[in-house]
Amino acid sequence: MNIEIEVNGKPLQAHKGETILNALKRNGIRVPTLCNMTDLTPTGACRLCVVEVDGNENLVTSCSHVVEEGMRIKTHSSRVVRARKTLVELLLANHPDDCLYCERNGYCELQNLAAELHIRERRVLKKSFTQKLDISSPSIVRDPAKCILCGRCIRICDEVQSVSTFEFVKRGCNMYVATAMSRDLNFSNCIGCGQCVLVCPTGAIYERQNIAEVIDSLNNTEHLTVIQIAPSISVSLASEFGLKPGKNINGILFATLRKIGFDYIFDSASAADIATAEMAHELMIRKENGNSLPMLSSCCPAWVKFVEQWYPEYIPALSTVKSPQQVMGSLIKNYFAHEARVEPSKIFSVSVMPCTAKKFEAQREEMTTRGISDVDAVISTRELVKLIQLYGVDMQNVEPQHADQPFNIRSSAGKLFGISGGTAEALARSIYFKLTGKELIQSQVTEIKLGQRIHAFSFKAAGKPFSFAVINGMQNIHQVLQELMNGKNAVDYIEVMACLGGCVNGGGQPVVNDSKIVKLKAKAIMEIDEVDGIKCSAKNPVVQTVYNNFLLEPGSEKATKLLHTRYQKRDVLL
Ligand code: SF4
Ligand code: SF4
Repeated sequence: MNIEIEVNGKPLQAHKGETILNALKRNGIRVPTLCNMTDLTPTGACRLCVVEVDGNENLVTSCSHVVEEGMRIKTHSSRVVRARKTLVELLLANHPDDCLYCERNGYCELQNLAAELHIRERRVLKKSFTQKLDISSPSIVRDPAKCILCGRCIRICDEVQSVSTFEFVKRGCNMYVATAMSRDLNFSNCIGCGQCVLVCPTGAIYERQNIAEVIDSLNNTEHLTVIQIAPSISVSLASEFGLKPGKNINGILFATLRKIGFDYIFDSASAADIATAEMAHELMIRKENGNSLPMLSSCCPAWVKFVEQWYPEYIPALSTVKSPQQVMGSLIKNYFAHEARVEPSKIFSVSVMPCTAKKFEAQREEMTTRGISDVDAVISTRELVKLIQLYGVDMQNVEPQHADQPFNIRSSAGKLFGISGGTAEALARSIYFKLTGKELIQSQVTEIKLGQRIHAFSFKAAGKPFSFAVINGMQNIHQVLQELMNGKNAVDYIEVMACLGGCVNGGGQPVVNDSKIVKLKAKAIMEIDEVDGIKCSAKNPVVQTVYNNFLLEPGSEKATKLLHTRYQKRDVLL
């Protein structure tokens, strides 16, 4: 139901029960905020969204006040703007002045707001800051000196990711954000998903940088520098280079990386197809033996770490197949090295991932064969943007090219790994093809209702019934997971991606603050699937060649040694 309010002297329609901030936003009036997040509980912590409301002596926070019929609001009166300016000045009083050297220079919300409010001098004196930089995690760096206590990281980690790594400690001007017992991040329960990086308005949380190692390798003539690109990257970069958001720029990206100097460029979706062949084999064996079902997906390293920490009893349920990043890494050092007649130790293997947890995954001791890491450096999509800018490639004027053999072809099922539900879909298609020799079509799939947060479906292949569930993001994961694992709704396979929407919304993706862009990226991947000629991983000729020439068959001794892994119980403060 609509109600009428007045904003800056003009009538405006608002929805009954919505906040003033929402009503303003819907009607194209931007009011600044450094703590508000769409769909999460408002806290009014930063107070920057204050507005004047007739009849109220004090300014009110628009994020936490609900509209009322006839309300008269001023959003940019002198009093309001003065209050916002003072609030930002107080934040800056306690904030380092190193914007030129800051990771977030150019896309820091505090910096933008200071410019918007014409703050040109430090009027309030600085308080010295003593908390040190935390570089203990392979995924995330924390710089508490830049924290403005907005609480966004606390809420996203608790309310959306169900991890609760951070909390406010102490009160008043002594307050700060810390992990349990104020331990370093690497000793906390953080799963490295990077969702806090996406919402932090300043440079207080950012991903661990690995770009320097990549540049060193590109300059090292002894090295063969090989790069793999995750399925979601080609739809995540366009807007950063003035192209249409969500546009698939696969070919342009391959050509760009060649200009930068990478010796070989591979498509990780091709490895996703090989991982799918291994998962299909593993699931069918488990089903035959009635063992460790449901099988839990293992392609998201943040989710895997979550299971190792919270649910070690479910470790046997995790698929032992490595993630596509690690499958590709292992094949580069063991198969490609042999084909290209290069010593594995001379190959520097780089991966571009939408995910900060992939940095942690690449460093796991289980991801090393004979002392050689599967993957040597992982850079996020954001770091890739910096690399492209550093090498001065004008992406608007680059002719598309192909990836390199032997990992140049992928199925669209491999590409679907970039979105929530994609792994389950790829697996279903491969199992059906393996058992029937035909492709699974939509009419053979039945949707199952298992609750709001779960997308589930079933199908039959050669008379055998299969049912899969997809958990999109980690909200309420403890309850959802236990319901599924307790057998109340028995399924064969459960896919979990830690980031809502999947890798297109990964913690290493460009910071956009607009959920529409994430949807556009997901849509682009689905459109690729609609028109692609190879829809099933098992039909990818690269998969057939790699098995014929090297791995022999899914689940072979060699495939098990190189493409499967193990997990470990992790003792952390929960
Ligand atoms: S670390 Fe960032 S997101 Fe967390 S409270 Fe500080 S400024 Fe806000
Ligand atoms: S990386 Fe993820 S798990 Fe770790 S603190 Fe940030 S949101 Fe929480």
